[in-house]
Amino acid sequence: MRFGKIGLFCSVLLLADAGQTLASGSDAPVRQPVPDLILQDQILQQQVKQVHQQLINTIDQIKQIDSRTQKTNSGLQAAEAEQTIRTMTERYTIVYLTLAAALESSTWPALAVEQQKQSDLALRNRLVQEKAQLETKEKQLSRTARTVSDQITKATGVSHRQGAIDNLNLEQLAGLLAWPVPSTKEVSSEYGWRELNGEIEFHGGIDVAAELGDPIHAAADGVVLFAGPAQGFGNWIVIRHESGLMTVYGHMYKTGIQVRPGQKVRQGQPIGRVGAAGESYGPHLHFGVATGFKDGLLETVNPWSFLQR
Ligand SMILES: [Zn+2]
Repeated sequence: MRFGKIGLFCSVLLLADAGQTLASGSDAPVRQPVPDLILQDQILQQQVKQVHQQLINTIDQIKQIDSRTQKTNSGLQAAEAEQTIRTMTERYTIVYLTLAAALESSTWPALAVEQQKQSDLALRNRLVQEKAQLETKEKQLSRTARTVSDQITKATGVSHRQGAIDNLNLEQLAGLLAWPVPSTKEVSSEYGWRELNGEIEFHGGIDVAAELGDPIHAAADGVVLFAGPAQGFGNWIVIRHESGLMTVYGHMYKTGIQVRPGQKVRQGQPIGRVGAAGESYGPHLHFGVATGFKDGLLETVNPWSFLQR
Protein backbone atom coordinates (compact mmCIF):
# COMPACT_ATOMS: atom_id res chain seq x y z
CA MET A 1 0.00 0.00 0.00
CA ARG A 2 1.03 3.57 -0.54
CA PHE A 3 0.10 6.82 1.09
CA GLY A 4 0.06 10.33 -0.33
CA LYS A 5 1.58 10.09 -3.79
CA ILE A 6 1.88 13.87 -4.14
CA GLY A 7 3.63 14.14 -0.82
CA LEU A 8 6.00 11.40 -1.87
CA PHE A 9 6.83 13.18 -5.12
CA CYS A 10 7.88 16.26 -3.15
CA SER A 11 9.85 14.01 -0.85
CA VAL A 12 11.92 12.68 -3.71
CA LEU A 13 12.99 16.23 -4.52
CA LEU A 14 13.91 16.77 -0.88
CA LEU A 15 15.81 13.51 -0.96
CA ALA A 16 18.19 14.78 -3.65
CA ASP A 17 18.94 17.68 -1.34
CA ALA A 18 19.47 15.42 1.66
CA GLY A 19 22.17 13.52 -0.18
CA GLN A 20 24.06 16.74 -0.88
CA THR A 21 24.28 17.84 2.73
CA LEU A 22 26.76 15.14 3.71
CA ALA A 23 29.46 16.65 5.93
CA SER A 24 28.56 20.15 4.83
CA GLY A 25 30.24 21.82 7.80
CA SER A 26 32.85 20.77 10.34
CA ASP A 27 30.45 21.05 13.31
CA ALA A 28 27.41 19.87 11.45
CA PRO A 29 26.42 16.27 12.20
CA VAL A 30 27.22 13.96 9.30
CA ARG A 31 23.97 13.10 7.63
CA GLN A 32 23.77 9.73 6.00
CA PRO A 33 22.19 9.54 2.55
CA VAL A 34 18.65 8.20 2.61
CA PRO A 35 19.32 4.98 0.61
CA ASP A 36 21.91 4.05 3.27
CA LEU A 37 19.39 4.73 6.02
CA ILE A 38 16.76 2.62 4.28
CA LEU A 39 19.26 -0.22 3.97
CA GLN A 40 20.14 0.21 7.65
CA ASP A 41 16.45 0.01 8.55
CA GLN A 42 15.99 -3.14 6.45
CA ILE A 43 18.97 -4.79 8.16
CA LEU A 44 17.64 -3.83 11.61
CA GLN A 45 14.16 -5.18 10.84
CA GLN A 46 15.74 -8.42 9.62
CA GLN A 47 17.75 -8.63 12.85
CA VAL A 48 14.57 -8.14 14.89
CA LYS A 49 13.12 -11.13 13.04
CA GLN A 50 16.21 -13.28 13.70
CA VAL A 51 16.54 -12.34 17.35
CA HIS A 52 12.86 -13.04 17.87
CA GLN A 53 13.22 -16.51 16.36
CA GLN A 54 16.09 -17.14 18.79
CA LEU A 55 13.88 -15.95 21.64
CA ILE A 56 11.15 -18.38 20.62
CA ASN A 57 13.71 -21.21 20.36
CA THR A 58 15.01 -20.43 23.86
CA ILE A 59 11.49 -20.40 25.30
CA ASP A 60 10.83 -23.78 23.58
CA GLN A 61 14.01 -25.28 25.07
CA ILE A 62 13.02 -24.13 28.56
CA LYS A 63 9.59 -25.72 28.10
CA GLN A 64 11.25 -29.00 27.04
CA ILE A 65 13.45 -28.99 30.14
CA ASP A 66 10.46 -28.26 32.35
CA SER A 67 8.50 -31.18 30.95
CA ARG A 68 11.57 -33.44 31.30
CA THR A 69 12.02 -32.30 34.92
CA GLN A 70 8.40 -33.16 35.58
CA LYS A 71 8.98 -36.65 34.22
CA THR A 72 12.23 -36.93 36.19
CA ASN A 73 10.43 -36.00 39.39
CA SER A 74 7.87 -38.73 38.90
CA GLY A 75 10.77 -41.04 38.03
CA LEU A 76 12.44 -40.27 41.34
CA GLN A 77 9.19 -40.96 43.18
CA ALA A 78 9.01 -44.32 41.43
CA ALA A 79 12.61 -45.03 42.47
CA GLU A 80 11.78 -44.23 46.12
CA ALA A 81 8.77 -46.51 46.05
CA GLU A 82 10.94 -49.21 44.58
CA GLN A 83 13.45 -48.79 47.39
CA THR A 84 10.70 -49.24 49.97
CA ILE A 85 9.54 -52.42 48.31
CA ARG A 86 13.09 -53.73 48.28
CA THR A 87 13.57 -53.10 52.02
CA MET A 88 10.34 -54.84 52.79
CA THR A 89 11.31 -57.72 50.57
CA GLU A 90 14.57 -58.26 52.41
CA ARG A 91 12.67 -58.64 55.66
CA TYR A 92 10.47 -61.33 54.31
CA THR A 93 10.93 -64.83 53.17
CA ILE A 94 12.71 -66.37 50.28
CA VAL A 95 9.57 -66.04 48.21
CA TYR A 96 9.98 -62.32 48.43
CA LEU A 97 13.71 -62.56 47.69
CA THR A 98 12.77 -63.94 44.30
CA LEU A 99 10.63 -60.88 43.79
CA ALA A 100 13.54 -58.68 44.92
CA ALA A 101 15.78 -60.31 42.28
CA ALA A 102 13.19 -59.55 39.68
CA LEU A 103 13.06 -55.97 40.83
CA GLU A 104 16.87 -55.75 40.80
CA SER A 105 16.92 -56.38 37.07
CA SER A 106 14.71 -53.35 36.55
CA THR A 107 16.33 -51.07 39.13
CA TRP A 108 15.67 -47.43 38.38
CA PRO A 109 18.98 -45.61 37.91
CA ALA A 110 18.14 -43.05 40.57
CA LEU A 111 21.61 -41.52 40.62
CA ALA A 112 21.73 -40.98 36.86
CA VAL A 113 18.29 -39.43 37.03
CA GLU A 114 19.43 -37.05 39.76
CA GLN A 115 22.52 -36.08 37.73
CA GLN A 116 20.38 -35.41 34.67
CA LYS A 117 18.15 -33.25 36.83
CA GLN A 118 21.10 -31.18 38.06
CA SER A 119 22.51 -30.61 34.57
CA ASP A 120 19.04 -29.71 33.29
CA LEU A 121 18.74 -27.16 36.07
CA ALA A 122 22.07 -25.57 35.11
CA LEU A 123 21.07 -25.49 31.44
CA ARG A 124 17.70 -24.03 32.33
CA ASN A 125 19.28 -21.21 34.34
CA ARG A 126 21.53 -20.37 31.40
CA LEU A 127 18.59 -20.38 28.99
CA VAL A 128 16.55 -18.10 31.24
CA GLN A 129 19.44 -15.63 31.19
CA GLU A 130 19.73 -15.91 27.41
CA LYS A 131 16.01 -15.33 27.07
CA ALA A 132 16.25 -12.06 29.01
CA GLN A 133 19.25 -10.97 26.92
CA LEU A 134 17.43 -11.73 23.67
CA GLU A 135 14.41 -9.76 24.79
CA THR A 136 16.63 -6.77 25.62
CA LYS A 137 18.42 -7.10 22.29
CA GLU A 138 15.16 -7.19 20.37
CA LYS A 139 13.97 -4.04 22.12
CA GLN A 140 17.28 -2.28 21.46
CA LEU A 141 17.15 -3.17 17.76
CA SER A 142 13.62 -1.87 17.53
CA ARG A 143 14.65 1.38 19.27
CA THR A 144 17.56 1.87 16.88
CA ALA A 145 15.24 1.22 13.94
CA ARG A 146 12.92 3.96 15.22
CA THR A 147 15.83 6.41 15.40
CA VAL A 148 16.81 5.55 11.81
CA SER A 149 13.15 5.99 10.81
CA ASP A 150 13.06 9.46 12.32
CA GLN A 151 16.20 10.36 10.36
CA ILE A 152 14.58 9.17 7.14
CA THR A 153 11.44 11.17 7.89
CA LYS A 154 13.57 14.24 8.58
CA ALA A 155 15.42 13.86 5.30
CA THR A 156 12.45 13.01 3.10
CA GLY A 157 9.36 14.43 4.79
CA VAL A 158 7.70 11.01 4.46
CA SER A 159 6.07 10.33 7.80
CA HIS A 160 5.57 7.03 9.50
CA ARG A 161 3.58 5.94 12.49
CA GLN A 162 5.53 3.44 14.56
CA GLY A 163 4.69 2.04 17.95
CA ALA A 164 7.24 1.13 20.60
CA ILE A 165 7.80 -2.36 21.97
CA ASP A 166 9.83 -1.13 24.96
CA ASN A 167 6.97 -1.51 27.43
CA LEU A 168 5.82 -4.90 26.20
CA ASN A 169 6.70 -8.21 27.76
CA LEU A 170 8.07 -9.89 24.66
CA GLU A 171 8.45 -13.20 26.44
CA GLN A 172 4.72 -13.26 27.12
CA LEU A 173 3.86 -12.09 23.62
CA ALA A 174 6.37 -14.28 21.77
CA GLY A 175 4.55 -16.51 19.32
CA LEU A 176 1.22 -14.95 20.26
CA LEU A 177 0.18 -14.61 16.64
CA ALA A 178 -0.43 -17.49 14.28
CA TRP A 179 0.47 -17.17 10.60
CA PRO A 180 -2.58 -15.59 8.88
CA VAL A 181 -2.45 -17.28 5.46
CA PRO A 182 -2.16 -21.08 5.89
CA SER A 183 -1.77 -21.69 2.14
CA THR A 184 1.59 -19.91 1.84
CA LYS A 185 4.57 -18.57 3.75
CA GLU A 186 5.78 -16.34 0.92
CA VAL A 187 6.58 -12.81 2.07
CA SER A 188 6.82 -10.39 -0.86
CA SER A 189 7.59 -7.29 1.19
CA GLU A 190 8.89 -6.93 4.73
CA TYR A 191 8.09 -4.35 7.42
CA GLY A 192 9.97 -1.05 7.30
CA TRP A 193 11.15 1.53 4.82
CA ARG A 194 11.28 0.68 1.16
CA GLU A 195 11.71 2.30 -2.20
CA LEU A 196 9.01 1.38 -4.66
CA ASN A 197 9.05 2.80 -8.22
CA GLY A 198 11.37 5.56 -7.06
CA GLU A 199 9.10 6.50 -4.18
CA ILE A 200 10.18 6.16 -0.58
CA GLU A 201 7.53 4.92 1.81
CA PHE A 202 7.15 3.29 5.17
CA HIS A 203 5.59 -0.14 4.92
CA GLY A 204 3.64 -0.75 8.14
CA GLY A 205 3.29 -4.51 7.80
CA ILE A 206 4.40 -7.53 5.83
CA ASP A 207 2.91 -8.57 2.51
CA VAL A 208 2.06 -12.23 2.08
CA ALA A 209 1.85 -13.16 -1.60
CA ALA A 210 -1.02 -15.59 -2.09
CA GLU A 211 -3.60 -16.72 -4.60
CA LEU A 212 -6.82 -14.77 -5.02
CA GLY A 213 -9.40 -16.19 -2.64
CA ASP A 214 -6.97 -17.98 -0.30
CA PRO A 215 -8.44 -18.06 3.24
CA ILE A 216 -7.20 -15.51 5.77
CA HIS A 217 -7.24 -16.65 9.39
CA ALA A 218 -7.40 -14.56 12.58
CA ALA A 219 -3.88 -14.47 14.06
CA ALA A 220 -5.18 -14.64 17.63
CA ASP A 221 -8.40 -14.54 19.66
CA GLY A 222 -9.95 -11.09 19.68
CA VAL A 223 -12.79 -8.76 18.78
CA VAL A 224 -13.26 -7.25 15.31
CA LEU A 225 -12.79 -3.48 15.49
CA PHE A 226 -13.20 -2.62 11.79
CA ALA A 227 -14.29 -4.63 8.78
CA GLY A 228 -14.83 -2.66 5.59
CA PRO A 229 -13.38 -0.08 3.20
CA ALA A 230 -10.08 1.58 4.12
CA GLN A 231 -7.92 4.03 2.19
CA GLY A 232 -5.17 2.27 0.24
CA PHE A 233 -6.22 -1.17 1.50
CA GLY A 234 -9.38 -1.67 -0.56
CA ASN A 235 -11.03 -3.27 2.43
CA TRP A 236 -9.49 -4.11 5.73
CA ILE A 237 -10.14 -5.94 8.98
CA VAL A 238 -8.70 -4.80 12.29
CA ILE A 239 -8.88 -7.14 15.29
CA ARG A 240 -8.19 -6.04 18.86
CA HIS A 241 -6.59 -8.68 21.07
CA GLU A 242 -6.66 -9.06 24.82
CA SER A 243 -2.92 -8.28 25.01
CA GLY A 244 -3.72 -4.77 23.74
CA LEU A 245 -2.16 -5.46 20.35
CA MET A 246 -4.16 -5.10 17.15
CA THR A 247 -3.77 -7.05 13.93
CA VAL A 248 -4.55 -5.56 10.52
CA TYR A 249 -5.52 -7.45 7.36
CA GLY A 250 -5.67 -5.51 4.07
CA HIS A 251 -6.49 -5.64 0.33
CA MET A 252 -9.54 -7.90 0.51
CA TYR A 253 -12.46 -7.31 -1.82
CA LYS A 254 -15.72 -6.35 -0.15
CA THR A 255 -17.01 -9.87 -0.79
CA GLY A 256 -13.82 -11.28 0.76
CA ILE A 257 -14.72 -10.10 4.26
CA GLN A 258 -16.42 -12.68 6.45
CA VAL A 259 -16.67 -10.87 9.81
CA ARG A 260 -18.38 -7.74 11.12
CA PRO A 261 -17.34 -5.16 13.73
CA GLY A 262 -17.95 -6.28 17.30
CA GLN A 263 -17.73 -9.97 16.42
CA LYS A 264 -15.57 -12.21 18.60
CA VAL A 265 -13.10 -14.34 16.69
CA ARG A 266 -10.86 -17.24 17.69
CA GLN A 267 -7.27 -17.82 16.61
CA GLY A 268 -7.25 -19.66 13.28
CA GLN A 269 -10.83 -18.76 12.44
CA PRO A 270 -11.35 -17.85 8.76
CA ILE A 271 -12.14 -14.12 8.59
CA GLY A 272 -11.75 -13.36 4.90
CA ARG A 273 -10.20 -14.14 1.55
CA VAL A 274 -7.07 -12.75 -0.13
CA GLY A 275 -7.79 -10.00 -2.67
CA ALA A 276 -5.96 -7.39 -4.69
CA ALA A 277 -8.14 -4.40 -3.86
CA GLY A 278 -6.76 -0.94 -3.17
CA GLU A 279 -3.19 0.02 -3.99
CA SER A 280 -1.96 -3.47 -4.67
CA TYR A 281 0.60 -4.89 -7.13
CA GLY A 282 -1.04 -8.33 -7.15
CA PRO A 283 -3.06 -10.60 -4.90
CA HIS A 284 -1.62 -10.48 -1.40
CA LEU A 285 -2.50 -9.98 2.22
CA HIS A 286 -1.08 -6.95 3.95
CA PHE A 287 -0.64 -8.14 7.53
CA GLY A 288 0.15 -5.56 10.18
CA VAL A 289 0.46 -5.41 13.95
CA ALA A 290 -0.22 -2.23 15.90
CA THR A 291 0.22 -1.18 19.52
CA GLY A 292 -2.45 1.50 19.32
CA PHE A 293 -3.98 4.47 17.56
CA LYS A 294 -2.57 7.97 17.43
CA ASP A 295 -4.29 10.86 15.62
CA GLY A 296 -6.55 8.29 14.00
CA LEU A 297 -3.62 6.31 12.59
CA LEU A 298 -2.37 2.91 13.64
CA GLU A 299 0.99 2.80 15.38
CA THR A 300 2.58 -0.21 13.76
CA VAL A 301 5.32 -2.52 15.00
CA ASN A 302 7.32 -5.25 13.26
CA PRO A 303 4.93 -8.26 13.05
CA TRP A 304 7.89 -10.66 13.37
CA SER A 305 8.15 -9.69 17.04
CA PHE A 306 4.92 -11.57 17.72
CA LEU A 307 4.55 -14.22 15.04
CA GLN A 308 5.12 -17.89 15.60
CA ARG A 309 7.98 -19.39 13.61
ZN1 LIG B 1 1.57 -4.06 2.52
